[in-house]
Formats: sequence, C-alpha cells, structure tokens
Amino acid sequence: MKNRKHSNIPIFLPELSCPHQCVFCDQRKISGTLSIPNPEEISKIIERHLSTMNNGREIEIAFFGGSFTGLPLKLQEAYLKAAYIFIENKKAGGIRISTRPDYINIEVLELLKNYNVTAIELGAQSTNDEVLLKSGRGHNYKDIIQACELIRRYDISLGLQMMIGLPGDTIEKSIHTAEDIVKLGATSTRIYPTLVVKDTALEKLFNKKLYQPLTIQEAVNWTKEIVKIFIKNKITILRIGLHPSEELKEGCSLIAGPAHSSFKELVVTNLFNEIITKSINDNKNGDYLISANSRFINYAVGYKKLNKLELEKKGIPHKFIIDNQLNDYEINVSRN
Ligand code: SF4
Repeated sequence: MKNRKHSNIPIFLPELSCPHQCVFCDQRKISGTLSIPNPEEISKIIERHLSTMNNGREIEIAFFGGSFTGLPLKLQEAYLKAAYIFIENKKAGGIRISTRPDYINIEVLELLKNYNVTAIELGAQSTNDEVLLKSGRGHNYKDIIQACELIRRYDISLGLQMMIGLPGDTIEKSIHTAEDIVKLGATSTRIYPTLVVKDTALEKLFNKKLYQPLTIQEAVNWTKEIVKIFIKNKITILRIGLHPSEELKEGCSLIAGPAHSSFKELVVTNLFNEIITKSINDNKNGDYLISANSRFINYAVGYKKLNKLELEKKGIPHKFIIDNQLNDYEINVSRN
C-alpha cells in the first residue's frame, strides 16, 4: 500500500474570528457545534481522540472551522502550545490549520512554523474573481497567489480547498480553479459542492430565485472532471463533499443543493465507469479483470453496484479484484 493511513484530530473553532460573510456560510451549523473550546480544553479533546485511534496511523491535530490565523496572535499561540505538547511527546506528527488566503502574513507564518504547523489549508474556493466577489469572499485571486507563495517559502505543506457551483460559477471556471490549484503548488485539496444552508445570504438569493444550486448529477460530473486533474497532477484529495455534521444529516439546516451522503462514492463510481467503458470499448470481446486497492474496490464495483450491473447487462464476463499496489483513485482493467 503506497499511502500510509492518516488521521486528523479535528478541533472546530467556528466563526471565532471571522468578520466575513461568505454567502454560503453559517460556520456554526456547518461544523455542527456552537461551543468554542478554550485553549485548556484542547488537551482533553486530543486525549479523547487519541484513546480511540489505532497505533501506526499518521496523526495530525487539525484546527478547522474558522480562520485560525484571524485569531489574536496570543490566542493562536495558546492553542498551538496546547497542541504542541502532543508533538513533543510524539503522540501526533504535526498540526494543520485552515484559514483564509488574506490572513496569511510573515508574522503569522513565523508563529506557525515555531509550533511545528505542518500544513496550512486555505479556503481558496475559486480562483475566478467574479465568483469570489459574488460569493462575498472578501478576497481575490491575487490574495490567494500571494498567500501560497509565502506558505511555500516557509516550507509548510499547502492545501487548497475549492467549492463548485458558487454564484457565477461554471464547469469551465471550476476546472480552471483546479488547474490553478495545481499551479499554485498545493499538495492537497478538498472539493465541496455548494449547498444552500439555512440563515445564509445564499438562502435569500435562492428564495428570490437569484441562485440555482447544482443538481446532484451536475455536481458529480463537475467533480469528476476536477478529480481527473488532481489525480493527473498527484494532488492528494483529502475530501469530496461536505463533512456531514449531525445537524445537516438531520436535515435541519440544509435548504437545497447537491447534498448526498455518498457523494464521493457517486463521483468515483462515475469516474471508474468511464475508464472501464473506455477500456472495454478499446478491446471489444474478452473476459476482464478489474482491480483497485482495498479502499477503492467498492467504488470500482460502483455505488449500489452500478458498474457491475452495467457489465452484467452488457453480458461482459468480469471479475473485480483487490490490488493494493494501486493508488487511491486508480483502477486497472485488463484481459483475464
Ligand atoms: S471566511 Fe467565510 S467561510 Fe470562512 S468562516 Fe468566515 S464567513 Fe465562513
């Protein structure tokens, strides 16, 4: 297996520091928590997670939810100090934070570097200025470029998150964003379809029929094209789809949009279907072996066995097998 198993200990800091009003965001609901941990509570949260984690995993402590570097420097340092103890004791390998591109500067990076922050994830969302403006992001593409250059200079791993289907977005713009993410030197990414959440500006736009979310099928197609770009350029895809907080799962906050509990499964099923179909069309008759690693074999078979059923319907003899030499998102189709 080429990828060592990785786990994050997530610590959510919802809207603790954010004066912005991105049209899609109600951080408190997205993270599913209203309480903000004190720096003193951090150790307990980490201990609790560590007690349930398997040894041998690569563990990072992840401050997610709000914009970490928008906090007062003293509070950032208090959080980092609490997490750093676990790095010193070798119980965790590093610290990740998520923040906004316009909250990155030298002072902040010096602090993060001192406390062994190994990865910074920036919510880029789009590299199209019109989409950023319409989404109320409060930063432009130039801010993203500058932040990425600084992070790379400090030799901290760069993650860039993107959203699809934001106001003014098109599949071409989203593909362009993915290509820019590659050019900007990101090593990891997350892809989130835009959802209309209760009590956000997007909900108002949606109610006035000024915003139309993507359908599930559109979101799957767009994401599939974007995933191809990231795979080709060896960018680690950390997540596809929204982190399902309890509240969203219960449907209290979700108003509209391409929310699906198996969104990633749908995307990869589609991607693999394309590859299987092309390989078989190129080879015509035969008996096929279709392999993927153990994490991805179910996607090869397909969501609700879609890919398998399609092959059966076409009368094509085949067998799905696990090959852990293959990377995530990789599938091999060969003649038996
Ligand atoms: S920057 Fe936007 S997405 Fe992030 S917490 Fe603030 S309002 Fe929400």
